[in-house]
Amino acid sequence: MADAETPRLKGRFTSCELVKREELTDDLVKFWIKPAQDYTFKPGQYCTIGVEGIERPYSISSSPDEENIELFIEIVPVEHGGHLTPLLDHQQVGAEMTLRPRAKGIFVLQPQFKHHIFVGTVTGVVPYISMLRKFLSDPEWPAPADGIAREDYTFHVLEGASYDDEFGYDEELTELAAEHDFIHFYPSVSRPNEERNANWTGAKGRINLLVEDYLEKLGVDPKETCVYACGHPQMIEDVGERMEPTDYNFIEERFWKEEDE
Ligand SMILES: Cc1cc2nc3c(=O)[nH]c(=O)nc-3n(C[C@H](O)[C@H](O)[C@H](O)COP(=O)(O)OP(=O)(O)OC[C@H]3O[C@@H](n4cnc5c(N)ncnc54)[C@H](O)[C@@H]3O)c2cc1C
Repeated sequence: MADAETPRLKGRFTSCELVKREELTDDLVKFWIKPAQDYTFKPGQYCTIGVEGIERPYSISSSPDEENIELFIEIVPVEHGGHLTPLLDHQQVGAEMTLRPRAKGIFVLQPQFKHHIFVGTVTGVVPYISMLRKFLSDPEWPAPADGIAREDYTFHVLEGASYDDEFGYDEELTELAAEHDFIHFYPSVSRPNEERNANWTGAKGRINLLVEDYLEKLGVDPKETCVYACGHPQMIEDVGERMEPTDYNFIEERFWKEEDE
C-alpha cells in the first residue's frame, strides 16, 4: 500500500503482485496476481486493479479456491483510447499494482436453472471459467437450489472470436468437454477466410447469430435454462434481443459501452 505512489486513488485499496504473465497474441495477455491480503470472491465476480492511479475492473477466471487470481486481458492500444491496458502491458513479473479489497458483481451462476448457456466473446469467457472450475473442484458448490441436483446441471460455453488464437481457454474447455458429458464447448470464428484462421475447422460466424440454432438443437426447456452473455456490447445487445420474446432467462455483463467505441 503506497499512498505516495498512487496519489489519485480515493477510498480503501490494497496491493497485489504480478506473479506470472502469459502472452497469447499481441493484444491478449493472462495475468496471475497475488493479493497482499486475504481476498474472497464468488465465481463470476470481478476485481479492480490499478497502475499509476488508473483503475479498471477485470473479471476473474480462477476459482476462489486457487492461490492466485487469474485474469485474461485485452490490451486496448493508446491510439484506440486505452488507458490502463497499455500500462498493464508493460508490467513485468514482480510488479506491484493496486487492488480494491472487495470483489464485486452479480454476474454469477444462477443455480435455480438446470441448463447454463455461457455466451462470450474473447475475454468474455472469463467468468464462465471461474464458475466451471469451482463447480468441478467443489462438490458442495453451488448450494442446492429449488431441488435441482448437481447431476441435473449442464453447461454450454459458446465462445466467439475473430481468430482461433484468441479463445484463451480453448484447450481447457476442449478437455473438460471431453471428460464430462455435462460440459460442452462450441467455439466459432467470425473471420474464417482470413489467413490467420487457415487451420480452423470448427464453427464459423458471429456467436450471437449461432445461439438460437444451438438452443434449438439442444432442445432443453427454456424455463429451466439461463442464457448468460458477457464481453462485447453488440453481441450482448443482439443475444438479449433474440432472447427477449422467448421463455429463456437472460443475464449479461458488459465489459464496455458501445458509445465508448
Ligand atoms: C465488470 C467488468 C469486467 C471486465 N472484465 C474484463 C476482462 O476480464 N478482461 C478485459 O480485457 N476487460 C475487462 N473489462 C474491461 C476493462 O475494465 C477495461 O475497460 C479494458 O481493459 C480497457 O481498459 P483501458 O483503461 O485500457 O481503456 P478504457 O479507458 O477503459 O477504454 C478505452 C476505450 O476502449 C474500449 N474498450 C474497452 N475494452 C475493450 C475491449 N476489450 N475491446 C475493445 N475495446 C475496448 C472502450 O469502449 C473505450 O472506448 C471489464 C469491464 C467491466 C465493466
